[in-house]
Order: sequence, then C-alpha cells, then structure tokens
Amino acid sequence: MSGKEQKYIDEVFKSNYIAPFGSFITRFEESIKAYTGVSNALALSSATAGLHLALRVLGIGRGDTVLASSFTFIGSVNCILYQGAEPIFIDSDESWNVSPILLKKAIRELPKKPKVFILTHLYGQVAKMDEIVAICKEEGIYLIEDAAESLGASYRGQQSGTFGDFGVYSFNGNKILTTSGGGVLVSDNEEWIAKAKFLSTQAKEPFLYYEHEEYGYNYRMSNVLAAIGVAQVEVLDERVERKREIFNFYQEKFKSIDEISWMPEIEGGRGNRWLSTMLLDKTNPMKIIEALELSSIDSRPLWKPMHMQPLFRKSRAFVDGTSETLFSRGLCLPSPTSASNKELMRVVEVIKTVC
Ligand SMILES: *Cc1c(COP(=O)(O)O)cnc(C)c1O
Repeated sequence: MSGKEQKYIDEVFKSNYIAPFGSFITRFEESIKAYTGVSNALALSSATAGLHLALRVLGIGRGDTVLASSFTFIGSVNCILYQGAEPIFIDSDESWNVSPILLKKAIRELPKKPKVFILTHLYGQVAKMDEIVAICKEEGIYLIEDAAESLGASYRGQQSGTFGDFGVYSFNGNKILTTSGGGVLVSDNEEWIAKAKFLSTQAKEPFLYYEHEEYGYNYRMSNVLAAIGVAQVEVLDERVERKREIFNFYQEKFKSIDEISWMPEIEGGRGNRWLSTMLLDKTNPMKIIEALELSSIDSRPLWKPMHMQPLFRKSRAFVDGTSETLFSRGLCLPSPTSASNKELMRVVEVIKTVC
C-alpha cells in the first residue's frame, strides 16, 4: 500500500456506500482512462471476469475458435472454456511473448478462421504490437490484450491494453498495483463497455421490476476496493520506476555469471518489469528455488505453457519449442517494490552460491 488508501477507504465508510457502486468506482475508472488514454473503462471483480465479459460481448461461444498466447497464466484463457469455445495456442519467439510468425501460420493453416486472439503481455513486457495489430486487422480477427501483468508498460509511447478491441488489467494481490482483488476492462468502443457493464450487473433490463432477457454475472468491483485502486494508480509511475530499478539491480549484480540471461525488452517497448525473470544455461532453476527457500525467500519457475497443461491435452497448438525451453530454464526472482536493495542483495548472494 502507498499510504493514501486508508484515507480514501475512510471516505467510503463515511459515505456508507459499501457496495458495488459509489463515487470511487467512477473515480477509479476515470484514473485508468486518464493514465492509459483509453476512452472507456469498467471496474470489475477480477481481470478473469473482464476477459470473460469481452468474449461474451463479442458473441463468442460454442463452435468458435479462439487463439491465445500459450506462454501465459491460466487466467488468460479460462474465459474461452467458460464460453464453450475452443482454444488454440500460439508459441512465443525470442521476445518471450507471442510469435507473430506462428500467429500467421496458425491463421493460414486452420480450417476455420478464429474469431478472436487473446494476447498476453508477459511479465509486464509488451509484445510486438505493430505486427500483431496488423495481422489481426488484415485477417478480421478481434484482438483482446491480456494486460493483467503489464499496467504501465508501453509500446512506442502507447500504453499496453489500448491497442486491441479490448484490454484488461488485473489488480490481484500479486500485481504491480492491487486492490486485493480486482480488474479493469477497457475499450475505445463505448457500446461494448456499456454492454459489459450491463452483463456484469446481472443483465437487468431498465425497469424498476427486475426483468431479464439474457443472463449476466455479478462481476462489479466494490466501492471500498475502488478506493484502494484510486490511491494505487497515483503511485503507478513510481512503482514502474522501482520495478525497473530492481531489474537493473539484478542484471548488474549477475553480470559476471555467463550462464544468466534476461527477458528482453523489444525495440520500442518499455516494460513495467512486473517480475524480474531470468534464464539459466546450465543450472536447474529448481536448485535455485530450493536454495532461496532455505533462506525463506520465495521464488517461482516461469509459467507452464498452456499447451503443456493436462487441461489442454486435446487442444491444438502452433509451437516450436520456445516456451517449453523457457519454462524448463527460467526463473522469476523476488521483485516486490517494497524490498530494499539490501534485501535484494540477499537474493543475489544465495543465487551466486548455486551458480
Ligand atoms: C493475474 C493474471 C490474470 C488474472 O487476473 P485476476 O485479476 O487475478 O483474475 C490473467 N492473466 C494473466 C497473464 C495474469 O498474470
């Protein structure tokens, strides 16, 4: 927390609007719009809910196919299953993010044209947006950006999450900003966000008596959490700066170890370095994770790609081994903005004893 959250929460309690409506929800949505430059925003209970609503609004359902980055967290793609659609996974390239070449290949080779592509900006690093936006436009495929991890990251000066038909940011406990749990769905299409809002509040038709023509969800964010969100957005630039400092710190300290390399930042991209992530040429990352754990330091492997998940055993995938290699050789380092350089140095020392 930054300090201001408590003050805003007190205002909410004084107003007595402890509900999924109230002035802080509007303020939170306005602050996201102002920061990212997108024209419509909807505060929700999670990013997962936002992705689900995006597919609902786009009319995706049974019999439809949806492309998705394979190298991501399950939250990106659960929505495809909720809608009874079929996921098709695309591998990464040297950027760690999705490969535009494999994306094109998938579209060319699939017997049926996919309707949507759900792109993840992994670990807060933006994907190759020039190429990806061009492919989706040319092929008439809707683009949804899963920017859950990349709030504050930009490509050629434009914020991640604002390139596609929809974008979604997460405010889960582990993200660069948090409301304890929450998400924001954004789009430049006003009608779509209005429709998503309608669906997120139980699809109530505009009558005083409760009338329903279709089914909706209970996906809105609470005014209390939105108050936390308003205070969090105020410190987003500081958080990005500190995350990037943490990354530079690690990179500098490990300069002498040849086997270590880092998730790249593509030309034109400026990531938020949500997590500092490294690759190891020789050392098994599990050895490092175990050594860190002995010092009570938490770390994780990289995401296990979706096409390797038992859940998606039967799903189609266009892969070339890139994300499988990243998964087997990669490591997420502890990267909290609250950590001091002294604490980060402890991480460095433990890893140096293993490598
Ligand atoms: C965290 C995360 C999500 C899910 O966000 P929630 O707000 O927890 O639902 C989705 N996709 C990615 C890539 C994430 O990291």
